[in-house]
Amino acid sequence: MNPVSPLVAAWASSKPPLLRFLDRCHADYLAENGGDVAHYIPELSKAEPSHFGIGLATLDGHVYEVGDTRVPFTIQSMSKPFVFALALDSLGASRVESVIGVEPSGDPFNSIRLNTDNHPFNPMVNAGAIACSGLIHEAKGNGAFEHIRRELSRFAGRDLDVDEAVYASESATGDRNRAIAYLLRTNSVITDNVSAVLDVYFRQCAILVTARDAAIMAATLANRGINPVTGEQVTTPYAIARTLSVMTSSGMYDYAGEWIYRVGIPAKSGVGGGILASLPARLGLGSYSPRLDKHGNSVRGIKVCERLSAHYDLHMLNRSDDARTSIIADYTIGKNPSRRSRRPHEQEILAAHHQDVRVIELVGTLSFSNVDYISRKLAKRPRPQFVIFDLRRVTAITRAGARMITEQFRELADFRVTVILSGIKRSSEGWKIMREWTEGLHNIRDFYLLDAAIEWAEDQVVYRHGGSIDFHETTELSEQPLLAGLAAEELKELAALGATRTYRRGEKIVGAGEAATSLFFLQSGVVHVTLPDGVRLATLTAGMAFGEMALLEPTRSADVLADASATAVAIAIADFEGFRNRHPRAGERIMRNLAQILSERLIVANTKVNLLTAT
Ligand code: GLU
Repeated sequence: MNPVSPLVAAWASSKPPLLRFLDRCHADYLAENGGDVAHYIPELSKAEPSHFGIGLATLDGHVYEVGDTRVPFTIQSMSKPFVFALALDSLGASRVESVIGVEPSGDPFNSIRLNTDNHPFNPMVNAGAIACSGLIHEAKGNGAFEHIRRELSRFAGRDLDVDEAVYASESATGDRNRAIAYLLRTNSVITDNVSAVLDVYFRQCAILVTARDAAIMAATLANRGINPVTGEQVTTPYAIARTLSVMTSSGMYDYAGEWIYRVGIPAKSGVGGGILASLPARLGLGSYSPRLDKHGNSVRGIKVCERLSAHYDLHMLNRSDDARTSIIADYTIGKNPSRRSRRPHEQEILAAHHQDVRVIELVGTLSFSNVDYISRKLAKRPRPQFVIFDLRRVTAITRAGARMITEQFRELADFRVTVILSGIKRSSEGWKIMREWTEGLHNIRDFYLLDAAIEWAEDQVVYRHGGSIDFHETTELSEQPLLAGLAAEELKELAALGATRTYRRGEKIVGAGEAATSLFFLQSGVVHVTLPDGVRLATLTAGMAFGEMALLEPTRSADVLADASATAVAIAIADFEGFRNRHPRAGERIMRNLAQILSERLIVANTKVNLLTAT
């Protein structure tokens, strides 16, 4: 047996930097024994003070876990943001916002004080949270708690239970919350029976979660309401933005201002010892360590969040973005024509009017800043007749980006510019979104393949400038670049070896993976050469050869399909070899022609690659 090298063994157990960082936090803060477990709910005082778990969920659904991440604890006030989001979604924003404020109170979480409208200051303090439970009770009656439990389970991506002992303990001792609830009731914030509403609230606080759950729940908030592990859209983006807003201003008890100033990540903690922190578009963090500081926040949890934010510079107000990275290529068809072989008069028209077709290849997310930048780049050069936006590398479009690009399309329509979109499959989500943006606009076309889009735009330019697309026919092998330089008798002999074949529109002439047994000279019609993944390599018209790679390779690497009905002369490779043996000089000439054709293709391919890096 070969000994395993130390590097190979180490690689297998290597950890991503983020996990190493969390490991270090865990190791460093495990020694931190400040603070105390909550006592005012008697059952909470039984928590094991040494427990310490950190979970971090990314928006692609990965969860890093260090320490006691599977130890259940009661969610307590960490339920508040989710029940607020639920209230917004189930009763409508105006109903919720009419009875619960969104200002920080500056008071402790369990303060028995309402604002000047006699409403709770915000949904993150007990008064506001009890009001939210009351609203859900109003809508769902006896089913209110089950509704909440189910919704929170969707945030966590698993079915959550209740700690009956903690529930009973708080229910038996929660007189302060009772006082708050009666105050809400006399001010008509709660309209249902107070003890029924409190029962919902106490139960919701006793829902059991783990640090891992908290991380996923936080990541769902960070991901516009889509649980990144299950993929489920749990709540609306409206509710998410409002929930994160109140977490930002009031999530960390009377430490909230300091928290957002120092850490800059919306968060919510609970007296059970949990903290969840949700950095929009980045991550969700869940920590569990039941020793609390004087504000009621987990001592170790706070330290983890502070260090995470400082180490990776994650303060949400410390952001920048370079809009210029969204364009990876910007050219006219002068630099990068379609792969369609064109007759000389078409080439002339296209050369003279190459500015008419502008191609902009985009990448990444189309956001507010990206689309604004693109529109300014577009305006800098002369007005084209056609603009092709290639979207195949676009991964997302924000609402602002979608709105602005629609405005740009409309503007282009006013200038009679046709917009061509390429790179979106009709079966895709992107296609649906694109249909929405472009509804009612008549200057939009789409082609999945960029090359097909360029080809179509070229055709329009040729037509507009009086040219015709001439699908001429030729039976002359002398016009074939592959056979250039052969003597008339040699061409005649070759022609005699061939068999004329006709193909229907759409018919496959050769298929990738098949044995390459013949080569073809196109006499009429149009064919295209496509890779198995759909990439179009070339569009050919009469006078061109295809399948000529059979001279070098025994197996076909691409499909050739007839675009329109086509006629071709097929010569078997075996016959061609015989010809080359009989006419070595002609054989060598053909191979040199082939080398030249291939080198021209390579130059074209390199130009295309260079275009992608030149901008
Ligand atoms: N059930 C607890 C209470 O209302 C929650 C407190 C909290 O976690 O902040 O007192």
